[in-house]
Amino acid sequence: MTQTPADPQATLIDGKAMAARVRAQVARDVATLKDRHGLTPGLHVVIVGDNPASQIYVRNKVAQATEAGLASVKHELPTDTPEADLLALVARLNADPAVHGILVQLPLPPQIDEQAVIAAIAPEKDVDGFHVLNAGKLATGGDGLVPCTPLGCLIMLRDRLGDLSGLDALVIGRSNIVGKPMAQLLLREHCTVTVAHSRSRDLADLCRRADILVAAVGRAHLVQGDWIKPGATVIDVGMNRIPAPEKGAGKTRLAGDVDFAAARAVAGAITPVPGGVGPMTIACLLKNTVTAACRQAGVPVPSPDRSGDA
Ligand code: NAP
Repeated sequence: MTQTPADPQATLIDGKAMAARVRAQVARDVATLKDRHGLTPGLHVVIVGDNPASQIYVRNKVAQATEAGLASVKHELPTDTPEADLLALVARLNADPAVHGILVQLPLPPQIDEQAVIAAIAPEKDVDGFHVLNAGKLATGGDGLVPCTPLGCLIMLRDRLGDLSGLDALVIGRSNIVGKPMAQLLLREHCTVTVAHSRSRDLADLCRRADILVAAVGRAHLVQGDWIKPGATVIDVGMNRIPAPEKGAGKTRLAGDVDFAAARAVAGAITPVPGGVGPMTIACLLKNTVTAACRQAGVPVPSPDRSGDA
């Protein structure tokens, strides 16, 4: 992971490899919990409808949870499920002591109010970290559950930079699931945090000041190479489908929010898309489920890590 004068390209932050390490640690923790406390962390994933991207995400979440030794269950509901039925399932999972983590895959069909469903999940089982109580705890220094994508970004930043104290961090995007919790986590790490959004003026100038740049926008190649501060650490959360004529007519590929090739020539380290933030998101979901199970059972997390402590 070092940069030499002969290699002016930024170091690649290998999210796939790091996620494999996090999952291996989760598997060791789960084995310890079973052994010492007879505790098997249980993750229940609920999917409503047949959105193809959601189906893939859910399949991967359940498969990786099972591989790490968690008790993982998928609940599939039809697209026309009434909100009351989904809320009844959530209530049943809330009351089940074998269920430690509940994840309702978003987006939900239009007849269901997403906020009502998130609010119905018991906060201690909210392994996505979207419940207002967990968001509030993150903002006020409590020990809630932290949203998986920003948690994964933070683990990568810590691995690359160590102490983040005093660094200038720019988060582009202010969604409740990525931008805002990312900014809170960086603030907790003592960064000087700026949050940019669609109304921000002179984004290029804001980027040029950032030692840490996290892009969570959803616009392919928005961040240009010459916006990057030399040596900066760039975390690209964006997942955008763009045409890939080089792969054949009508083909597409995934691209991040950052112009990767141009940014790599300037940055100190950068995450690729795919293979950066994406794999870390699921790994952190497993990590959150272990944290949630330990808290509910009143036992210590076998391998405590400050990243999961928010
Ligand atoms: P979102 O809810 O659509 O939020 C996008 C944010 O970007 C908004 O705050 C918006 O500003 C801001 N924005 C839009 N255009 C902008 C511009 N031209 N300049 C500056 N800011 C701009 O999206 P999200 O859910 O946070 O997701 C962001 C991206 O991350 C998407 O590509 C998504 O697919 C990806 N993602 C990846 C993972 C993963 O695991 N890898 C997980 C979650 C999301 P306003 O608030 O002013 O509208």
